[in-house]
Amino acid sequence: NGVEAMKMDDTPRAKSKNLDVLAEFDKSKAKNAANFVVIGHVDAGKSTLMGRLLYDLRVVDQRTIDRYKKEAEKMGKSSFALAWVLDQGSEERARGVTIDIATNKFETDKTAFTILDAPGHRDFIPNMIAGASQADFAVLVIDASTGSFESGLKGQTKEHALLVRSMGVARIITAINKLDTVSWSQDRFTEIKTQISSFLTTAGFLAKNLAFIPCSGLNGDNITRRSTEPAASWYTGPTLVEELDNSEPVNRALTKPLRLTISDVFRGGIQNPLSISGRIEAGSLQNGDALLIQPSSQKCFIKGLEIDNEAVDWAVAGQNVTIHLSGIEEQYVKVGDVVCSPSSPIQNVKEIMCKVLAFEVLVPMSVEVIRGRLSVPGKIEELVGVLDKSSGAVIAGGKGKKKVRVVKPGQLVRVKVTLERGVPLETPGRVVLRSGGETVAAGLLE
Ligand code: GDP
Repeated sequence: NGVEAMKMDDTPRAKSKNLDVLAEFDKSKAKNAANFVVIGHVDAGKSTLMGRLLYDLRVVDQRTIDRYKKEAEKMGKSSFALAWVLDQGSEERARGVTIDIATNKFETDKTAFTILDAPGHRDFIPNMIAGASQADFAVLVIDASTGSFESGLKGQTKEHALLVRSMGVARIITAINKLDTVSWSQDRFTEIKTQISSFLTTAGFLAKNLAFIPCSGLNGDNITRRSTEPAASWYTGPTLVEELDNSEPVNRALTKPLRLTISDVFRGGIQNPLSISGRIEAGSLQNGDALLIQPSSQKCFIKGLEIDNEAVDWAVAGQNVTIHLSGIEEQYVKVGDVVCSPSSPIQNVKEIMCKVLAFEVLVPMSVEVIRGRLSVPGKIEELVGVLDKSSGAVIAGGKGKKKVRVVKPGQLVRVKVTLERGVPLETPGRVVLRSGGETVAAGLLE
């Protein structure tokens, strides 16, 4: 029929050691893994703060910083040097803004962190959503300098916080930044803390999941070391890094069925013609395991496993892993597909219910449904009900009530969406709805 036979790696799968992976994991004392997203108004100091963190933790060496400093001085923007520590291209440097999500990693004794950097510019909200969809918690950066906190509140501060909440992020660490510009005023700190805390609890965050750190990213006060400024001596709480480390071990769902969304597919390796990578969202796997790829429902085997370019025997939820596959044709393996176990597969569905925050006016309309790297055309079939943002109670629509026909930006709404084809989606999961190249809503599968 003219279709060329696809090449398939049918070499034997890795021999299974039949390990008790959970017991191995316990023995290994592997670190807790946590991903976080950085949010806040443009110019709040997000990039500088994260640059400082990486620099002080010696993730970045002095030579690199010196190089950035020189480059920055040439451009007359010497203060940008720290911000450039975050992985950015020269085009972004020239404009002095962070545009794309740069992933950066650092470790403390307890935790291996990944920063999903989020830029503050309005147009870049889609990137932030991509970050938020993988985040275990968020760091909200506030510019405490006179007037800036106030304009930030009118700007993206609230919008970002609502967005991450609607995506299921439950914990926020607020860095009240640039306190050096207000002589480390405790009153200023308290004023901002009170306002942000009241806003965040109204937005549905629990008070116990909020923390506030007075800091200066530029000077490195209360980031990895306690401030030595005499004016800052009133603060005796944790540094930002200590607070990050306080994060409870992320519920890694180790004992749940295996789920991994493919973020990359590598073809054409000599030893390993077909490999995939992604973060294990739930469960565990080991060499030799049989896998099922959805939506194609094709089975295959694990031929080899790697974490950070090192061969390993097993991997668990929370870890980023590369899997070499055998026994499957490459046409059945795509970015955004879900890897699971044949004994407890994820189902392909053609209809979903989700609870989303609207960014644009929503009516029954065509949308692109996005979950991580998965993207599928669909249609908002029904605006089932408008919900109260803090209690989640239905305030319009619902059984026996007048149908909701239009939803305004900023409203929380339950929607029924039909999909053009069956795709692997299930709860818990974070979804984004896009239309005409714009994000129109984001939230959780129900
Ligand atoms: P972003 O847009 O949130 O990533 O902000 P940047 O990190 O690019 O910082 C914006 C501006 O604020 C830059 O000029 C920084 O040098 C400055 N800045 C950042 N953090 C601090 C701080 O702690 N103190 C002072 N005085 N300035 C800061």
